[in-house]
Amino acid sequence: MNYIDPHIHMVSRTTDDYQRMAYAGCAAISEPAFWAGFDRGTAAGFHDYFRQLTQYEPKRAAQFHIRHYSWLCINAKEAENVSLSREVIALIPEFLKEPTVLGIGEIGLNKNTRNEATVFQEHLDLAAKTDELVLIHTPHLEDKLKGTRMIVDMLKGDSRVKPHRVCVDHVEEHTVRLALDNGFWCGMTLYPTTKCTPARACDIIEMVGTDRIMANSAGDWGKSDPLAVPELIQEMRRRGHPEAAVRKVVYENPLNFWRQANNWVEWADAPAAGAKAGY
Ligand SMILES: [Zn+2]
Repeated sequence: MNYIDPHIHMVSRTTDDYQRMAYAGCAAISEPAFWAGFDRGTAAGFHDYFRQLTQYEPKRAAQFHIRHYSWLCINAKEAENVSLSREVIALIPEFLKEPTVLGIGEIGLNKNTRNEATVFQEHLDLAAKTDELVLIHTPHLEDKLKGTRMIVDMLKGDSRVKPHRVCVDHVEEHTVRLALDNGFWCGMTLYPTTKCTPARACDIIEMVGTDRIMANSAGDWGKSDPLAVPELIQEMRRRGHPEAAVRKVVYENPLNFWRQANNWVEWADAPAAGAKAGY
C-alpha cells in the first residue's frame, strides 16, 4: 500500500532512509521546519535552512520518486529568543511562493512559556494574513495537556483561524478530542521513546474513528523510525481494519489536508478528493 508520511525531518536523515521509505511504499512526505540539531545563532542560518527545505530536499527525495513538501517557521524550541524569532518570521513570506511549501509550521509550544506563546501568535498572524495552512507542534509528556489547551485557546481566540485549515500534531489519547472536537485535523506521532506507539495509535483510531486523523513518524535527530507509518499499516491490518480505513488514515487524509494549500498542484495519479467526510 502506498502511504504518506506527513511529518518527517529529512534533513536529519540519510539518503538510505529515502531509499528504504520508497521500498516501503512512501509516495510523499512533508517536512516541517524544526530544530537543526543545534540552536542557530542568526536569521541567516534560518534563511539557508529554508533554502535547504524548499530547494534541495525536494530534489533528494525525487531521486526515489518521493514527493517532498515543507512547512516554514521558527520552531518553539528556538522561539525563546523573541527578537531572533521576529527576524525569522520576516523571512518566511519570500519562501511562501515556493511550489512545495504547504504553509506555516510546525509552530507551537515546547515548555509552554510566555515567549513561546508570543512567537506562536505572531506566526498565526502571518498565517491569517497570507491565508496559509498551519501545522502545530504540541509539547511532549507532562507538558502536553496544558500546552495543547493553551494552543487550542489561542487558536479559538483568533477569529481569523479556520479550524479545517489547521492540523494539531503529536496528539495522544488525552489530547485527541481537544483537536477533533474543535474542528481541527490531527496527527499522531509514532515514536519509539516518547509519543505514541503504532498499537496506541490504532487504539486511538478505534476510539475516535478515521475522520481528520493522520499518522507520521516525525523522524528526526532523536531515536526515531522513518518506517513507522508502514508499521501502523501492519498493526491496523492485524486487527482486521478494512483496507479502505487504513488507506484513509495513511494516504487520503494527509492528501486531502494538503490539497487546501495555496500552492497545491494536483498529482496526475492521485485519487479524487473523495474522503470529503474528513473536511
Ligand atoms: Zn517535528
